[in-house]
Amino acid sequence: MQIMGLLLWLEAVPWGDILVASFFFAIGGTLGSFLNVVVHRVPRSESVVFGRSHCPACRAVIRARDNIPMLGWLLLRGRCRDCGVAIAVAYPLVELSCAIVVGLVASVEVLSGGANLPIAWAGVSNGQRGIDGLLWQTNWRLLGICLDHCFVLVTLLAWSLFERNAQPLPTNWFRATIVLAVGAAMLWPMLQPVDVLPHSPQWLLSPDWLRALIISTAGIAVGRLVGGQLDRPMVSSGLMLIGAALGWQAVVAISIALLIVVGSFFAVVGRNGPKRASQTSDLVMMTTVYLLVWRWVG
Ligand SMILES: [Zn+2]
Repeated sequence: MQIMGLLLWLEAVPWGDILVASFFFAIGGTLGSFLNVVVHRVPRSESVVFGRSHCPACRAVIRARDNIPMLGWLLLRGRCRDCGVAIAVAYPLVELSCAIVVGLVASVEVLSGGANLPIAWAGVSNGQRGIDGLLWQTNWRLLGICLDHCFVLVTLLAWSLFERNAQPLPTNWFRATIVLAVGAAMLWPMLQPVDVLPHSPQWLLSPDWLRALIISTAGIAVGRLVGGQLDRPMVSSGLMLIGAALGWQAVVAISIALLIVVGSFFAVVGRNGPKRASQTSDLVMMTTVYLLVWRWVG
């Protein structure tokens, strides 16, 4: 009897969904590991693709099994296997942040069939969700949107690490990111979230690539306008990317949320210290939340 109960319970567990979510969290952790490499090497003008990772102290090549996101650091108890020098806890924390941000957004979008997306995108959910939409009857629309969102989040996370290290954002990287975000929307207009106005006239809506270009340009302009009020260039760049990919509405909603949440948090916690301005890491967090509740706020 007990075995029957166990079997029934095992059957009720959504293994496919768990597998998909684990996959996305693992991808996120791996991207976080790559971000650590980018942040370390780009300011030194080193290749981010070629060359194995070295211990900065003893130059020993880091073994593949020690390079597993988060786990590698935990198993080594935060020390280099060769020379025993301490490895900063920031490395696994970056991997964890990236795993959470990518894992959460990708899992919610793919497992729910895009239920978090605005009504204007209702067509997206007319397809397979979960593991079916990933493997057997691939839901390309949904995966494309999901990829677009992960691209924005991972880029913002990378920029927040540059900001933390007081490294300026390479201009070419910023431009290439914006061109990629706008270009992707022009090629696949279904990536675009909402129209530039609630009731746009028809001439504004066709052809599709022009509509996408108008939405992205308005988003970049509002991002620049709002970002110009801040004295943090990186947050300003981040808002422009959000505008290019998600539209001006996202810039406004995320800026207001930042003002309220970060502003009130530091008004309570930092009574004795100077008020802290919003950082790009706050932008990553707020954009993640925004994407998860988009349908209900957008
Ligand atoms: Zn070492």
